[in-house]
Amino acid sequence: MSKCLIVTGASAGIGAATARMAPAKGYTDVVVHYGRDRDGAEAVAADVRAAGAQAHVIGADVSDMDAVTTMFAEIAGLAPAPLYLVNNAGIVAPKGGIADLTPDRVRKVFEVNVFGALEVCRRAVMQMRAWGKGGGIVNISSAAARLGAPGEYTDYAASKGAIDTLTTGMAMELAPEGIRVNALRPGPIETEIHAKGGQPDRLKGMSDKIPLGRAGTPEEIAAGALWLLSEEASYVTNGFLDVSGGR
Ligand code: NAD
Repeated sequence: MSKCLIVTGASAGIGAATARMAPAKGYTDVVVHYGRDRDGAEAVAADVRAAGAQAHVIGADVSDMDAVTTMFAEIAGLAPAPLYLVNNAGIVAPKGGIADLTPDRVRKVFEVNVFGALEVCRRAVMQMRAWGKGGGIVNISSAAARLGAPGEYTDYAASKGAIDTLTTGMAMELAPEGIRVNALRPGPIETEIHAKGGQPDRLKGMSDKIPLGRAGTPEEIAAGALWLLSEEASYVTNGFLDVSGGR
């Protein structure tokens, strides 16, 4: 049976690991979405195809609502199938305390992590309804939504708090339609996001703050996200899965 998975921000990190793992979990079609790194997305798509699924590489800046509309117009052209989403694209801004959280900076973070993520959810649900074959959503939140990221990036933490609330509202609204919506909150994971946020060495020396004593891998997050979407999690909705080494 065909089954389609959209992974946003799939050119690197957690999104790339999720897309690569999808064929082994029964997905026949994987939308490898990227923001700017088309080459990265093509490399992931090649691995998806080698693993036996169809890969569809689609670029869109998720903070550009017209670009998201165009992206879903392309997805609407695929063969109708149960449609699943790992809503993963996200950014952090450089380390700073509350005085550094200028309106421009906060707006940028929220435009990607909240407005973009919400619009992707909205379009995905509309497509699920149009195809009438059901589906499910996992929003990639962060342990920061619980911890607040004090003195580091509280704006980012607040954006992920918004994602948690969005998850609850959508889960309640969509449960009668059989669409389960959950959030996964990663702890510190080995990806390039830390360097992109100006802290390439962030994970070094963090192990004493993590009960399991190490950072996680993108594959450990991918496995959790794909489990939440799977039939094994058929009674889980409005759930929050902390994959954070106990942090
Ligand atoms: P990453 O930087 O490797 O990947 C982020 C992806 O999002 C990239 O593919 C990037 O191109 C994409 N993206 C960013 N802005 C975009 C935009 N405007 N439009 C389209 N795509 C955009 O980082 P990652 O660690 O893999 O992060 C993935 C998700 O996990 C993010 O939502 C992040 O907040 C969350 N997260 C990561 C960690 C961690 O420690 N790595 C911890 C908690 C939560």
